[in-house]
Amino acid sequence: MIQDIAPSRLNNSWQTKQPQPDSFMMCFHDGKLLAAVTDGGLRFPRLREINGQGKAAVYLFSVDDEDFFLTETDEADGYAYYSMRELRDRCAGKYLYAAFTAFHLHLWYADNRYCGICRAEMQHDAAERALVCPECGHKVYPRINPAVIVGVISRGRILITRYRRGYAHNALVAGFTEIGETLEETVAREVMEETGLRVRNIRYYKSQPWGMAQDILMGFFCEADGDDTIRMDDSELKSAVWCRPNAIELQPQQHSLTNEMMQLFRDTNGHLPPELFPPAPDAPPEKTRIYFTRHGETTMNAENHVSGITDCALTENGIMQAEQLAEICAAQGDIDLILCSPLKRAHRTAEIVAAKLRVPVMTDERLREWDYGSYEDQPRDAAPEFQAAKREFGVRMKDGGESLLQLAHRVYCCIDDIRKQYAGMTVLCVCHGGVCRAAETYFKDMTTDAFSHFFMGNCELRRYEI
Ligand SMILES: [Zn+2]
Repeated sequence: MIQDIAPSRLNNSWQTKQPQPDSFMMCFHDGKLLAAVTDGGLRFPRLREINGQGKAAVYLFSVDDEDFFLTETDEADGYAYYSMRELRDRCAGKYLYAAFTAFHLHLWYADNRYCGICRAEMQHDAAERALVCPECGHKVYPRINPAVIVGVISRGRILITRYRRGYAHNALVAGFTEIGETLEETVAREVMEETGLRVRNIRYYKSQPWGMAQDILMGFFCEADGDDTIRMDDSELKSAVWCRPNAIELQPQQHSLTNEMMQLFRDTNGHLPPELFPPAPDAPPEKTRIYFTRHGETTMNAENHVSGITDCALTENGIMQAEQLAEICAAQGDIDLILCSPLKRAHRTAEIVAAKLRVPVMTDERLREWDYGSYEDQPRDAAPEFQAAKREFGVRMKDGGESLLQLAHRVYCCIDDIRKQYAGMTVLCVCHGGVCRAAETYFKDMTTDAFSHFFMGNCELRRYEI
């Protein structure tokens, strides 16, 4: 965000200082600032560069060891006047933040030249950032307008708006706090006025000084309460729509709290971390959904060979099956991420589905197929004892393979972790027939007979809910 300039630091404590030849002089004219903008860089004139030699200079703040002063409209060779919006669109970094902050102070000084009580000319207070009336003693402090930015969430989507006037890019619901109102009341009122929605579970996120509009912005996330039909106020907004995380179009710059909130929602795939956005105390616990599927057809499937941990490619038919699976998953519309076996056939299948859904794919070693030992790559029919070996749950497959219990152990651990790590989310596991069979027993009772007859077709999809 614009204020995130670490390791640099803006120090705004009040000091009585005189400008030095190298001090930055902030000259404003008609809402524009005298500056030089080159590729990504922003500079301000120094005292020695401006023609008027810094008349009526007022100390503003420092950034690290560089002092900034406010002075009257002036000229300097190589510098021109830029609006705050132009600077916002073209620059970044500590000097942009300095420009916004100087602008805020400039407007405050310009608005308070005379006493609001007796109309005498105000003077600078010697001890603090304030203007004081020499006639009646009236004192004025810098004015900062409180405003809220609201990320409204409903069923895994966030409410994205566009303003009718001004900023052209995506935004969130926003508005100023009224006198006599708490910030939470501002949130509820602004959302109601702009979109007709009731909200609940209002949670503070972060704040941001926004000197361009003399604001302090306070970001909140909340949930739509009940009916989430949007009734947009079209005098304020051009659009207001529910947006799934992967469809969010961010702002072109990373300056704003609004953008950070939209990005957080997108990057967490609509599941804000519970420490930032705890569920409402009366909300029913969210269910975790896990889909299991088996990879598309492979060359070894086509030849009817045993393919445990042996790597092999998908056939053309297998790729087509994966594409059909992607369509089915897209129609389900609820998959947040994909976990897949490290074996090529599962990975390729997962990639095809992920490309369609635009969700992340993570490899989990524990989803690899049962290690069939020396049965690997054997023609299925040439080893009649293979079927019998699959029923002996405590016996390892010959020549260094895994037992069924070993397989079940890692698959159960994987599902336990999914439940912890992705609680409330929907996860697709792209893996293998043997793994799907073991997974089925995690959720359902199965007799040995039912277990040995369980069959999962290529790219068949099974859904479980916990
Ligand atoms: Zn006065």
